[in-house]
Amino acid sequence: MKRVLITGAAGFLGSHLCDRFIKDGFEVLGMDNLITGNLSNIEHLFGNKHFTFYNHDVSNFVHVPGELHYILHFASPASPIDYLKIPIQTLKVGSLGTHNLLGLAKAKNARILVASTSEVYGDPLVHPQTEDYWGNVNPIGPRGVYDEAKRFQEAITMAYNRFHGVETRIVRIFNTYGPRMRLNDGRVLPAFIGQALRGEDLTVFGDGSQTRSFCYVDDLVEGIYRLLFSDYDLPVNVGNPDEITIKEFADEIIKLTGTNQKVVYKELPKDDPTQRQPNINVAKEKLDWSPKVSRAEGLKITYDYFKQLPKTEWYKKEH
Ligand code: NAD
Ligand code: UDP
Repeated sequence: MKRVLITGAAGFLGSHLCDRFIKDGFEVLGMDNLITGNLSNIEHLFGNKHFTFYNHDVSNFVHVPGELHYILHFASPASPIDYLKIPIQTLKVGSLGTHNLLGLAKAKNARILVASTSEVYGDPLVHPQTEDYWGNVNPIGPRGVYDEAKRFQEAITMAYNRFHGVETRIVRIFNTYGPRMRLNDGRVLPAFIGQALRGEDLTVFGDGSQTRSFCYVDDLVEGIYRLLFSDYDLPVNVGNPDEITIKEFADEIIKLTGTNQKVVYKELPKDDPTQRQPNINVAKEKLDWSPKVSRAEGLKITYDYFKQLPKTEWYKKEH
């Protein structure tokens, strides 16, 4: 049985990855320090003899017993309000954490895939973003703690690949959504759905003309899975190119939830990217991957998930 270590296992993406690898017959070691994650995302795996959970901060030395074939490094705050609240931990997990996991991969002769992000492109001057674009990032702005940690992560990953011969994979993830996001994590989709459920107005930042391209979590997991088992070691964009303005997105959520909420406009956060859309030609060519779930389908599943949560979850403040 092949053994895979998944960091960030109690988070949104990590927990879906744990499910996928368990389903496909792997032994899964999940690791998380629960700083933004929640054990409820993986509690259904606790009785499974092929799943082990380690409560550990990967910015400190990482040890796991026995052999290891694969590592998926997904530990990191991902929502702007999270990484603005814990900027040093964010920098540490992207740099020291990645260094520890690359060291573990080298020691165990394991293949490692790291979770990078469309944020490495910053506020992009090339549109749609292709992997050969170097980006437009403000290193000292508030978002720099995340963007630069991820850029360092990519650099050290390629260095381990070239200098130590470690088998590495880099996925650049574009905005992804689905069940198990935290309703209060501040990202736009849970923010809007939470507001609709509570009967509050939807808060659009700026004039709402900035764009994003939203990918449903199952599509993303499939792309990551294919990348891990491919022989391609340069960064690959995985996301859904279906681009929409944030104002249109708010209107879609109002329509979906059948509420009569209004849109209210708030100040645009500093360095908020004005447009974002992945060019996925590399994923198509190298992984034979493209997204299958439309926004209408994905939003419906996600809304139904949030709706059935206990009302106490709807009203929970950020932690
Ligand atoms: P999340 O906050 O739901 O999950 C992150 C998990 O990592 C949490 O469970 C958290 O407790 C854990 N964690 C954070 N620091 C840790 C540390 N030092 N040691 C151990 N565990 C730690 O976020 P997510 O959306 O699931 O994102 C997962 C990964 O994917 C992140 O690396 C993020 O940068 C990347 N990513 C996500 C998106 C997206 O749209 N969801 C987009 C781009 C990149
Ligand atoms: N946004 C918004 N209202 C909210 C939360 C976010 O208008 O309540 C905007 C935010 O300014 C950004 C977009 O939605 O332009 C996506 O924000 P998110 O935090 O989800 O992700 P990111 O900016 O990292 O893509």
